Amino acid sequence: MAEETIFSKIIRKEIPADVVYQDDLVTAFRDINPRAPSHILIVPNKLIPTVNDIEADDELALGRMFTVARKLAKAEGIDEDGYRLIMNCNVHGGQEVYHIHMHLVGGRPLGPMLIG
Ligand code: AMP
Repeated sequence: MAEETIFSKIIRKEIPADVVYQDDLVTAFRDINPRAPSHILIVPNKLIPTVNDIEADDELALGRMFTVARKLAKAEGIDEDGYRLIMNCNVHGGQEVYHIHMHLVGGRPLGPMLIG
């Protein structure tokens, strides 16, 4: 059984967060340490620790993460200029919180893709 992270508590509203969207499958909230003017985390409500743990049954939630990203990018006013969606996996990927999440980052030019 995977261990819950702080994100499960945010999803259940047990601890405060700046939640910008929630439905039956996903929750989105502002990153506590934003790296750009818009930095939102989109997470499945179900605990999936890493991308390596994704199963076929999760495809609906994962697809929802993308449609929510698109809607939030528009709501943030960053859809036309552009933005980046990032998912980190395990140590080499720089993952800090083991509950998968998509970073929606934008609001300024982000430069070339981040590797290293
Ligand atoms: P990652 O390195 O992909 O696992 O990213 C984890 C992200 O979660 C980081 O950008 C953190 O700033 C963010 N984070 C950690 N705790 C919280 C929290 N309580 N509320 C909002 N964002 C958080």
